[in-house]
Amino acid sequence: MKKIMLTGDRPTGKLHVGHYVGSLRRRVELQNSGEYDDIFIMIADAQALTDNADNPEKVRQNIIEVALDYLACGLDPEKSTLLIQSQIPELCELSFYYMNLVTVSRLQRNPTVKSEIQMRNFEASIPVGFFTYPISQAADITAFKATTVPVGEDQMPMLEQTKEIVHKFNSVYGETLVDPKILLPDNQACLRLPGIDGKAKMSKSLNNCIYLSEEPEEIKKKVFSMFTDPNHIRIEDPGRLEGNTVFTYLDAFCRPEYFPEFLPEYANLDELKDHYKRGGLGDMKVKRFLNNVLQAELEPIRNRRKEFQKDIPAVYEILRKGSEKAEKAAAQTLKEVKAAMKINYFDDEELIRMQAAKYTEE
Ligand code: ATP
Ligand code: MG
Repeated sequence: MKKIMLTGDRPTGKLHVGHYVGSLRRRVELQNSGEYDDIFIMIADAQALTDNADNPEKVRQNIIEVALDYLACGLDPEKSTLLIQSQIPELCELSFYYMNLVTVSRLQRNPTVKSEIQMRNFEASIPVGFFTYPISQAADITAFKATTVPVGEDQMPMLEQTKEIVHKFNSVYGETLVDPKILLPDNQACLRLPGIDGKAKMSKSLNNCIYLSEEPEEIKKKVFSMFTDPNHIRIEDPGRLEGNTVFTYLDAFCRPEYFPEFLPEYANLDELKDHYKRGGLGDMKVKRFLNNVLQAELEPIRNRRKEFQKDIPAVYEILRKGSEKAEKAAAQTLKEVKAAMKINYFDDEELIRMQAAKYTEE
């Protein structure tokens, strides 16, 4: 069986370091491993409109920002197909048929949708499109016959929903859709990177992000304002690592070579953590180190982005070509889906012959 990867992001803002450790970094590694037959990276504008229907300009403006972040991180249009969701009408058709296989109560139980509804104050008036976006996500994944979906932990309920739709479809209409596998980050800290405010998840909607394209001064300001252990007041106090955002970020970003470069008095992260727990290590010193680490990680990304920014029409051209290629793949799947559901009347010569025979016999 072919190995196909699909994943994507909503164009609701520039991409942040949570996206990077949760999914983007992995996508680039997988892309460069050469193990995949096809890679589809989707800018999910139609999904972004499900909770931004009154602000299409925001979605429109952010398509290019997400595309630039992709290219800056090393997604290569020669190896990966970059596409815009709304340009693939087949995805809507697939969603429409999948809706018959999902119940309202099943959607209501989806924990990610539940918390997102709460976050957006949608309780009293949930847009139907937003409520059903897990179904449209199943259409995205299955349209490209994805076997692997590298995403952050918040996407786990979406993948479960997709798998259920695949199983249901295949059992009702016959083996047609491919069962996808979720690929979560191995590193615990990257499953759901917290915001700089220590809140559960860094998210464009919560205003607690460090963006991939952020300038050095801004990164520094954000690192120095970061949430740590509120009880670690004097340097000699013992500190807590749990819920300490600065250490979570070090878990997510620190590489062994950063110690000799920026903090040679410690051999590794474990030594630094031990000292913090014992007491005698101040927050400022750890923040200075984290700032150096993040600057080293983000500088090459920012510089590559600036190169791509010089030719914006070329980036739109990459998206246009990618969307065209993606539509061909989705159209093939839709054809197979319609055949399995027996709604391919005009392609089904047997049907036409049988119906004709019925009336000639009379
Ligand atoms: P929005 O607030 O508009 O939903 P978002 O910041 O949650 O935006 P998405 O576009 O919904 O971003 O998510 C894109 C991908 O990035 C998904 O795979 C998601 O799991 C991953 N991701 C987003 N935020 C984080 C995070 N804080 N930690 C790890 N992965 C994340
Ligand atoms: Mg999200």
